[in-house]
Amino acid sequence: MLIVGIPQTLSFYSYYPLWKTFLEGLEAEVVLSRPTNREILEWGIRDTVTDACIPIKILHGHVIDLKDRADYLLIPRMVSVDGRATFCPKFLGLPDMVRFSGAKLPPVIDSRVQATRYSHGLFSFFADIARTLGAKRNFRWVASGFRACRQQRIYQQLLLAGLLPREAMRHLETDPGADVAGVAVPSGSNPGEKLKVALLGYPYVLYDPFLSSNLYQKLKDMGVDPVTPELVPPRQIRRMSTFLPQNFFWHYSNRVGWSSLYYLEKPGRVDGVIHVTAFACGPDAMVGKFVELESKKKRVPFLTLTVDEHTGEGGMQTRLEAFVDMLRAKKEREGKGAG
Ligand code: SF4
Repeated sequence: MLIVGIPQTLSFYSYYPLWKTFLEGLEAEVVLSRPTNREILEWGIRDTVTDACIPIKILHGHVIDLKDRADYLLIPRMVSVDGRATFCPKFLGLPDMVRFSGAKLPPVIDSRVQATRYSHGLFSFFADIARTLGAKRNFRWVASGFRACRQQRIYQQLLLAGLLPREAMRHLETDPGADVAGVAVPSGSNPGEKLKVALLGYPYVLYDPFLSSNLYQKLKDMGVDPVTPELVPPRQIRRMSTFLPQNFFWHYSNRVGWSSLYYLEKPGRVDGVIHVTAFACGPDAMVGKFVELESKKKRVPFLTLTVDEHTGEGGMQTRLEAFVDMLRAKKEREGKGAG
């Protein structure tokens, strides 16, 4: 049985159920790199150019973690999933960057994801993987592709219901035919909390506890309800995408921008906005400013947190506590003013 390695970073957070279900349908075994840790980060720093953003450095570390455990590495060339925006240039060149990193690696499956309508456009991607892995019977990979799209849809519904990506993946693992109805939300959105903060950023930053210094959980521990781009319903995302005369060029950046418009649209929807950005991210230079200006316009407190290889838990905690204290004081003042 062929073993395909998938790095536990970047598009993993958005599409792992799709990749995994499809590959298993071809009778391949899927192995993941370990969750990001100090060693993976150090490997990544060693193997990449210094001015790469930290998620790209980390990707290289994950590749090193996988290289001796897999026959192939799946590093898709993510071009577009909606036919409108493309992924950031680093995603477009990712398979080449990995291939030429200098490390001795297994063959890289770099099939192109360029969909105009989500499930249909994916089938040339599936066909390419099936060809690379030598799958002969066409009906098998087509059926597997349909199953993968179904699992991906359920996964997205689970995220929308408030599960974090790894919780949603576990849920799918334990109950592959799972329905979303009745899903218990162990650590996602909690409407009972008093302070609600829009925690905005790319999924591979927000949901990687090592990279983000576990920001999401830190906010929960402070009694805050963090709401993320993954909790904005698709029809609202589509609605927000019509508000600007010109959207961003990049997929994940648009999701952050549109989510900020949604959370800031109505007074009281959120008490504050935190934008989590990766040091040396080109697109974020624009997205961050955009979210900051929108927050200012709506008089909603805003905080930027930048993560890089030197980010310390302590500094992050202090800044978060100061921001949350300020939000609490503001809310109390406004409560008294209204009373
Ligand atoms: S969007 Fe930014 S953080 Fe993400 S890969 Fe591109 S440059 Fe790096």
